[in-house]
This record gives sequence, structure tokens and C-alpha cells, in this order.
Amino acid sequence: MDSGWPESLIRDVPDFPSPGIMFKDITPLLDDAEAFRWAADELADRFSNTPADRVVGVEARGFILGAAVAYRLGLGFVPVRKPGKLPYLTRSVDYELEYGTASLEAHNDAFSPGQRALIVDDVLATGGTAAATVELVNSGGAEVAGMGFLIELGFLDGREKIETDANCPVISLFCFGGDG
Ligand code: AMP
Repeated sequence: MDSGWPESLIRDVPDFPSPGIMFKDITPLLDDAEAFRWAADELADRFSNTPADRVVGVEARGFILGAAVAYRLGLGFVPVRKPGKLPYLTRSVDYELEYGTASLEAHNDAFSPGQRALIVDDVLATGGTAAATVELVNSGGAEVAGMGFLIELGFLDGREKIETDANCPVISLFCFGGDG
């Protein structure tokens, strides 16, 4: 196992999906059985003392990590999806990405008062996606218990934005360009 493991399995793809964006491609890490298990276990372990009753994963890579974390913690899983993908009645929130604008949706019965949700995604960049997800959780009356990311792009200050919005622990396993 090299000393850079498993960070060396995160591939930088320049100018994807648009010029100037350095895309953090986690598919090599997901393809490595040990690294994938390490990432899911590590995210789950960091929240093992945080009372929560469901994990919320953000489409699409947040589904992969979030579902594994939910399984590991013995919690349910709630998908937050791009518009038009969920079959039942939905709530929607508009937000800004590092590379554009977008909307996210959750089923309108996905969250209810008294529930505590852990939000999991692959990358924390500007924090817009996470903030929109917090809004979806809160709009159902539930609370965000914590947020976990595989990667944080520290130079984009997303953490400040979401810590202020959600007032809960925010953890990342790798931070690029910041303190993490
Ligand atoms: P943001 O809303 O700016 O925090 O962006 C986070 C969301 O966009 C996550 O769901 C990521 O999957 C994706 N994302 C944003 N920037 C990157 C990047 N540089 N590399 C990979 N994914 C990214």
C-alpha cells in the first residue's frame, strides 16, 4: 500500500465539465474494493456518536457513498435527486454549483419533524448543493445531524457556508487547498 493511498485513487480531470474546473473523479477509488470500503467505513465511523435516523445522499455520487454509509450505520437512505427523477410528490430547491445552476428535489414525505438526517456527498465545493439539501431536509421539519464528504475543496469556502446554514458537524476525508 503506497503512502498516498487512497488519495492517489482520486483522479484530477482538468476542464471537466467546463473550462477551468478541475474535476475530482472518484471512480478509481470506487473501483478499488479496499479503498471504497475504507471510505464508507471512515465516513460512517466519524458519525458513529451522532444520533441520526437516516442518511440523505445527493444524486449521483452521493447515492453510492451515502447508501454504503447508511448500510454501515444501520440507517435508512433518502435520495435527493435532480428534477423530474422522483416518482411521487416532491419539494424542490434551486441552488448554484461551482459550474452552473441547478435544482434538487426530495419526496415531500421524505422528512418529518423530529427526524435527524446525515447528508453524504462525494465533493464539497462551493457548498451550494449541501445548502440546498439542508433546505430540503429542514422544509420537511427534520434536522441535519451532520454532513460528510469524501473530498472538500477548501479554497471554495463551502464549509463556512454550510456550517452557518446547518449548525452541525461537517467532516471531509480529504481536503484540497484548505485546512479541512
Ligand atoms: P457545490 O454545490 O459547489 O458544493 O458542488 C458540489 C456538488 O457538485 C457535488 O455533488 C459534486 O459531486 C459536484 N462537484 C462540484 N465541483 C466538483 C469538482 N471539482 N469535482 C467533482 N465534483 C464536483
